[in-house]
This record gives sequence, structure tokens and C-alpha cells, in this order.
Amino acid sequence: PTAARHENTQTIRVNSDKVSYSDDHITSKYEYLNTHVEQVRHDDGTTEYVATPVQRQYKFRTERKVPKTGLMLVGLGGNNGTTISAIILANRHNISFYNKEGLQTPNYYGSLVRASTVRLGTDPATGKDVYVPFSNVLPTVHPNDLVLGGWDISSMPLDKAMARAKVLEYDLQRQVAPYMADMKPLPSVYYPDFIASNQEERADNFLPGNDKAAHVEKIRQDIRDFKSQNGLDKVVVVWTANTERYSEIIPGVNDTADNLLKSVKESHEEVSPSTIFAVACILENAPYINGAPQNTFVPGAIELAERHRAFIGGDDLKTGQTKVKSVLADFLVNAGIKPIGISSYNHLGNNDGYNLSSQRQFRSKEISKSSVVDDCCAANHLLYRPAVPGKKLADGKADKGEHPDHTIVIKYVPSAQDSKVAMDDYTSELCMGGRNRLYITNICEDSILASPLLIDLTIMAELMTRITYSLEGDEQNTRGGEGEWKSMYSVLSLLSYSLKAPVVKPGTDVVNSLNRQRAAATNFLRACIGLAPESDLLLENRLW
Ligand code: NAD
Repeated sequence: PTAARHENTQTIRVNSDKVSYSDDHITSKYEYLNTHVEQVRHDDGTTEYVATPVQRQYKFRTERKVPKTGLMLVGLGGNNGTTISAIILANRHNISFYNKEGLQTPNYYGSLVRASTVRLGTDPATGKDVYVPFSNVLPTVHPNDLVLGGWDISSMPLDKAMARAKVLEYDLQRQVAPYMADMKPLPSVYYPDFIASNQEERADNFLPGNDKAAHVEKIRQDIRDFKSQNGLDKVVVVWTANTERYSEIIPGVNDTADNLLKSVKESHEEVSPSTIFAVACILENAPYINGAPQNTFVPGAIELAERHRAFIGGDDLKTGQTKVKSVLADFLVNAGIKPIGISSYNHLGNNDGYNLSSQRQFRSKEISKSSVVDDCCAANHLLYRPAVPGKKLADGKADKGEHPDHTIVIKYVPSAQDSKVAMDDYTSELCMGGRNRLYITNICEDSILASPLLIDLTIMAELMTRITYSLEGDEQNTRGGEGEWKSMYSVLSLLSYSLKAPVVKPGTDVVNSLNRQRAAATNFLRACIGLAPESDLLLENRLW
């Protein structure tokens, strides 16, 4: 059996008075421990860090019934859209196929939720660790059950679009094609100024006119129709369409929820297609994830999501080069080794690369790729001089403290097709002026790496809609819902593991480290079944 078909043979029951199970809910009591730190500066120039343990009592409640869920992709006819559709259909219909290695059975390798495990605990009889599928810690949607649909500015049916993408093996394409021939993308929102002009040649399927309020209404109607036609309880929408240019943040236009709604009404030119989808999804209460780098979630969109207690997540899928970088930089800096230069070269030949060959779209990607080491360098003031608040540099820009030189180059090379080549040079300073240089080449098979992330984001976003919490002593606070149970905060930063430039609650720190992101997700799942976070202390192994 493949990883895709182990499910339901392994269930988890927690044996503790901190957890109760009813037909409808799993309810846990959870003591959240944190440390508050005060910095006291003494007259002799020393700083004392005063650390105070703090604790809060939470209850988490998870709905047990897994809803019938639809996944609507914006960019359904693209490389990611067609690849994920084929992967789900091949798994659903158990389609095996031949490549030069022999017979391949369908699986969900590359999916955090479907193909990775979580350490549940230790078997006291043997002293061995016990691991369970990530997907089984709480009840989650099975990707085979996702009903697929969505939009594309290209009208090509999905069997032909899959062939256009040139991603999957021919023998697999041949067998899934009959299931995809009837799948035709809905007309989408197309404002040519936001994506590269070279995309115009495929744009034959878009909503007429420039009435942005009408476009929002049409997308809302599409979501409602999809829901009712397929008898769905929930719909998750993921943007996996072309990278847009950045939207300018303009006071009075997109800085607040009301201004954004006003700008939609007035069809203001700075409201992008991806933000039109954000507004529509928020108003329809459909979780919306941005898998591309542009700043879809302008401040007004975040405020609108908060107002409607809707769920959003982004930005940009974290697949190849950046995923490795968020591991490697973390390793180096936490080992006390000082990266001083990180140079990243990419070349790719798929339509994403074609779009990114245009400067403004490349700039969005450059921004989302460049911040990934910032938090880990800023966390180590022994290696990097911290920023001085208020200080201006010679070029007039604000001082951001010391950080490695970080360069990103992306070139479009058609012959590379979907096998994106990423080459990185990490140069680090060692003890006594020594140098360490790491060269990493990563052939990414772009869309095959990215597609399982679309599943993870969908499954995790759907799960977050079924989890509510209550905080002891917080009865007066009505943020997140009336009454005892409140919904999670709108920006789903727990999805960060799959995202290159995580959007977080305004005013809070971004975490880019892959290990920290994974630990946050798995420890949150554990909290929902009343288990302590995984600390790797393993005292049994270390004490007498
Ligand atoms: P792609 O170009 O093959 O597919 C994008 C699709 O979006 C195309 O079919 C295009 O017609 C469609 N499209 C463009 N504008 C649209 C709109 N307004 N509404 C609906 N459809 C629209 O690209 P891809 O390789 O599938 O990548 C998709 C996105 O994911 C890109 O933005 C890319 O930067 C991002 N991404 C991809 C990866 C990866 O590894 N593949 C990683 C991170 C991010």
C-alpha cells in the first residue's frame, strides 16, 4: 500500500482527564507556558534580562465531522493547477502507470499532511518512539475527497492544459486525461496591467468589462454555485495563478477595509485580480490562500478578513530553493557560523518563468524570496549588529542592522521547462577569519514539488475553520466570536511551513525557520488533543 492508503487504520485516543470526546467534538484543556522577558539596563552599562514564566489556560474544541470540501483554484489551467488535479484524480481512481523505472503507484509524497508523521510518544514496554500520520492527529479532509474546480484566464480544458504543462509522465497523462476532459476553468478576473504582457496570448477566458464590484459579485456567485452544484459544506480557494506585480499601498485606497470596499466599488486601478478574489472569498467566508508572491493582502484586505472573521493565508508557496534556505540559514546561524553572502541563481522554462521574465513580476518574487533569512539573522546579535532604531544610513534608508549580502537572480530558459534549476552559494565566516562555502544545486521539478503544498494548505485551512478556543478569564473579550468559543485569528500563520513569505498578524514577528514552523503546527495539533508540546527532552534516556 502507498502512503495514500494507510489512513483510518490508525486512530488516536488520548487517555487523559484533559480531553473529552463527544460525537461532535474533541475538547482539550491546555496549559500554555511562555516566558515574558524584561530588559533592565543598569548604570554600569550592563543589561539584565528578567525572565518570568507565564501560563494561560486554554480550551480547544475541534469539530469531528469532516465536511465535504471543495477546492477552487485560481489558475486551474496552469502547471500547478493541472498537476494537482491529475495527482488527486490518480490517487482517487488508483491509477498506476509506467515510467522508465517501472510501475509507479499513486501517492502524496511531498505533502506534509499526507506523507509525514508526528511523534506521538514513547511505548513504555520497548522505550521506542511511536509515530502516527500527521493527517490522523485530528480529523482532516482526505485529498481524494476534494471536489475540484476553479478559474483560469485560459479556457483550455484540463486534459489539454495538462499536456501543455509538460510536467507529468505520458503514461499517467494518458490515463487521467479522460477524467479531465470535462473540467473547464471558469472565466476569471483579468487586469492585464498586473501580470506580464506575454500572458496575453493565452487570455481568452475572462469576465467582461472593468466593473470591479460586478467582478467580486460574479466570483462570489461562482463559489456559491460550485458549493450547491456539488453539495459541499465548505469551499477553500487557493490562488495559484500567475505572479502579479505589487499593488501600491495608497492611503484612502487600500489601507483600510472600508477604503478597499470603496475602491472596488469605484473600480480603482490599484485593486488587483488576486485582491478581488480575496474580497469575494472573505465575503463568502471561504478560506483564501495566496500561493504567489504579490501583496494580495493589502492592509484593507486583512482588516476586512478580521471584520468578517474569515480566514486568509499567504504568501507564495515555499518549495525548492527557499525551503532549503530556510533550513540552511537556520542551521548556520544557530551553529554560530556567520553567513555573509547568499547568492541564488534560478533558471526555469515553464510559463511561471515566462511571466517572471517581466521586471515588475520578477520584483514580487525577489521580495518574497529575500526576507527568508532576516528573522534568523536578527535573532543572533552575537553575529550580526542589531538595527539602531531611528538611525539613517548614508543612502537615507533606515538602518536594518547587519545582515548577509543576499542576491536573487531568475532567468527564463525555455529548454529547462518545468525542471527549475536553483544554484546557491552560501559563504560564511568562521572562527579566526576562516571561510566556509557551500554550493547547492537543486533541480526542483517545480510543479511536482509545489502541488502537494496546495493540498496541505487546503487541508490545514479547512481544519482551522473547525477549531475554536476559549481562554480562562477572557469572558469579556468578544474578539473572535461571541460567547465562550472563539474562532482562530483570521491570518492563518500556522500554515507558514508551506509559505515563502508568511503573512502574520500585524505587529507580530514572522517566523521563517522551517523547523520552528513545523513544530508550531504539530504542537498545535497536540494541544488540540491535550498533549504537551514535543520538547525532545527525552529525560528517560538521559537520567538514571
Ligand atoms: P503557470 O503559469 O503554469 O499557471 C498559472 C495559471 O494562471 C495560468 O494557466 C494562467 O493562465 C492563469 N492565470 C493568470 N492570471 C489569472 C487570473 N487573473 N485568474 C485566473 N487565472 C489566471 O504557473 P505555475 O507554475 O502553475 O505557478 C503558479 C503560481 O504559483 C505562480 O505565481 C508561481 O510563482 C507560484 N509558485 C509556484 C511554485 C512552483 O514551484 N511551481 C513555487 C512557488 C510559487
